[in-house]
Amino acid sequence: MSTAPIFRRVALIGFGLIGGSIARAARAQALASEIVTTARSEKTRARVTELNIVDRVLATNAEAVQDADLVILCIPVGACGPVTQEIAPHLKAGAIVSDVGSVKGAIVREMAPHLPANVHFVPAHPVAGTEHSGPDSGFAELFIDRWCILTPPDGTDPMAIEALGAFWAGMGAKVETMTPDHHDLVLAITSHLPHLIAYTIVGTADELAQVTSSEVIKFSAGGFRDFTRIAASDPTMWRDVFLNNKEAVLEMLGTFNEDLSKLTRAIRRGDGEALFEHFARTRAIRRGIVEIGQDSAAPDFGRPHPPLKKAE
Ligand code: NAP
Repeated sequence: MSTAPIFRRVALIGFGLIGGSIARAARAQALASEIVTTARSEKTRARVTELNIVDRVLATNAEAVQDADLVILCIPVGACGPVTQEIAPHLKAGAIVSDVGSVKGAIVREMAPHLPANVHFVPAHPVAGTEHSGPDSGFAELFIDRWCILTPPDGTDPMAIEALGAFWAGMGAKVETMTPDHHDLVLAITSHLPHLIAYTIVGTADELAQVTSSEVIKFSAGGFRDFTRIAASDPTMWRDVFLNNKEAVLEMLGTFNEDLSKLTRAIRRGDGEALFEHFARTRAIRRGIVEIGQDSAAPDFGRPHPPLKKAE
């Protein structure tokens, strides 16, 4: 990976899972001569100071972006518009302004109008994460072999796109560029809908009167617990994703409902052939994901299993 710093000063606005992981990875790979950060609350800022991962922790967004060559907003999608408005007068000419939001069309609509003409705007989405949040949750390896999608508006300086791409590649990510609308459609099916389904199933199980909640937890290894991991994701982040990618999610939800109706009909009619055909197709998709290295081939998602005790 990279050895020479790509940027002189990088400013991270927000220090949770993503901001904290960028700070740790950029520091480990020496991608910036200086990393400064800020967070909304005094509590988080104090914790980041204690962690001693960045060069300076500043009290305000305006102070943090001062003289920064790269500014990355690592905050919920819904907060990006107002924060951009706040930092705009303090940005250095020629700076690159980016974000990490899981939705891109709304980010461009909310951020671009506030930015001065003398900065480069290159929105980004690292397709990597966990269900944990906060300043302690980040880790330097989060982006290794994960995609980072850049969605620069038409006419963006290619040098700025290249520099941001090199920064993400330096943290181990594979970089791809696409339009914000295409990003939102792809992510609606690969990320947003799966989260919605997980939130639904976990909520439904919680409401079932015939099955006690202790049984749901006890027998969760039957598949339920894999949904609970996704459904434990940050409520603020996911509220903002669904509010800001409404059209694409509703379109995918329409297709999903049609497919669910087909499977419902096959079960009702006892159509084993239709069910088998469907499940064989989906099994092949899983194998494809493993083949391209996007998940481990280890059984049970690589969870450790204790050895069987020898009979006395
Ligand atoms: P996180 O761990 O909850 O951290 C969020 C950070 O944003 C905190 O520093 C928080 O400050 C700050 N913040 C929250 N609300 C704010 C507001 N209204 N104004 C200013 N700052 C605010 O979140 P995260 O998981 O890093 O997510 C950050 C962004 O990354 C989101 O846009 C999300 O879509 C995107 N993303 C997340 C994942 C994932 O899996 N988590 C993956 C890819 C992209 P305090 O700590 O002071 O409250």
